[in-house]
Amino acid sequence: PVALYGELRKNSMGVNLANDNELKALADAVNAARAPWSAAPLVPGASSGGPTVQVADPAKRSRTVGSWQAADAATVERALANAVAAQPQWDRLPAASRAAILEHAADLLEQRRGEFIALAVREAGKTIPAAIAEVREAADFCRYYAAMARKLFAHPEQLPGPTGESNQLFLNGRGVFVCISPWNFPLAIFMGQVTAALVAGNSVIAKPAEQTTLIAYQATKLLREAGVPEAVLQLLPGDGATVGAALTRDPRVAGVAFTGSTETAWAINRALAARNAPIAALIAETGGQNALIADSSALPEQLVKDAIASAFDSAGQRCSAARVLFVQDDIADKVIAMLAGAMDELKVGDPGLLSTDIGPVIDADACSVLAAHAERMRGEAKLIKEVALPAECAEGTFFAPRAYEIPSLDVLKREVFGPVLHVIRWKASELDRVIDAINATGYGLTLGIHSRIDATVEHIQKRVRAGNCYVNRNQIGAVVGVQPFGGEGLSGTGPKAGGPHYLLRFATERTLTINT
Ligand code: GLU
Repeated sequence: PVALYGELRKNSMGVNLANDNELKALADAVNAARAPWSAAPLVPGASSGGPTVQVADPAKRSRTVGSWQAADAATVERALANAVAAQPQWDRLPAASRAAILEHAADLLEQRRGEFIALAVREAGKTIPAAIAEVREAADFCRYYAAMARKLFAHPEQLPGPTGESNQLFLNGRGVFVCISPWNFPLAIFMGQVTAALVAGNSVIAKPAEQTTLIAYQATKLLREAGVPEAVLQLLPGDGATVGAALTRDPRVAGVAFTGSTETAWAINRALAARNAPIAALIAETGGQNALIADSSALPEQLVKDAIASAFDSAGQRCSAARVLFVQDDIADKVIAMLAGAMDELKVGDPGLLSTDIGPVIDADACSVLAAHAERMRGEAKLIKEVALPAECAEGTFFAPRAYEIPSLDVLKREVFGPVLHVIRWKASELDRVIDAINATGYGLTLGIHSRIDATVEHIQKRVRAGNCYVNRNQIGAVVGVQPFGGEGLSGTGPKAGGPHYLLRFATERTLTINT
């Protein structure tokens, strides 16, 4: 249990894969969920629709997962009008009622996890453990934000004042919130953004990533079943350039929660700023150029295990993933040799098999960007290891995990969003240069440190700008309420998802002074 401002809250238990009964129940539930899935805009009163998009399984492009219909301009307009009309009444509900709906949604999600796990595997290419973790994190977000809303929104804060005067501070929803979520955590981040905005008293228009619309559709239906009114939570499938852009330039939008690339966050920020409208709140969680610094006191076995998890879990498609391992020269040869050996053990393949460590990347575009990076690395880096892909990987969008040794961070112009780790050696006298180079990237999301010397850990941690720092462990998989997640600089605006201050950015503050 985690103490949360005096309340006790438990994180979701997930599934114990070592227990045969639990494993069998999970397998039955996942197998009962069957493609094809379908999705369409969830907008009351909308009659028209845009083109239909087919969804292929990233592990096997010839396998159809389902199809969805995009929203057209009239549907976007209808959704905005609905959201504006529905918000005041939703905001006037007691916060505890909204919180109870989220708690109900968390229970439903756990009961029906088989379908969500199947969708995360087939639509997003997630491995089964990663898909289980998605459902857990989504349920955690529901329960955590529910608890936070009960704490922060249920009662006004009483403020001091002179005799004969009462002063109170209230939190209310801002209005219509647009949630633009990514494909790499298609359930957890989708649910996290949406539930935070809802519980704070906003109506929500959700625009999920095109690649993972089917799972977002199921999640929206589940939240409505749990009790969110239809006009208060609407879903607009479509691409960013049309649906996303139509939403962010609209003056009726009071706030945007976005997770994705830094470039798209800039575009959203510009669109919001160009409106002659109330200044909108923007919560952006963007990319990283995350470092893992290991000094010569690090335990090589532990370091290699954590570096592999940090770089390659989820095929490196996490913003938290380690992209650059800075290893002190005294242990570098040993660590690099062990890394190459451990990478040989990685099993790349069908994410639906429990034996698979690494699944596909999301789509062909992602493959091409990674292939272009590999091409560039030929001239600038030394290949440490490229994992051999089994023949069946040719049927999907797989990218062979690899590690390179590079001379300096200058070689990396931008975030490489996939299973690629870069290794840089450093000498004891260069630690501050390493720190300066990391800070000079402008990103500030995760930082890993492997060292047994407390003074070194403290020295690094105090100087590197990073939202989430992990010492002597991997640097991925932040747990709701335990490691609130989010970065600074080019990595995002804050406040941190799954942290005590997140809901405040979704709210507006009002005071009430009464002369009694
Ligand atoms: N919260 C995730 C983690 O800690 C990363 C989220 C993301 O990639 O956007 O690994």
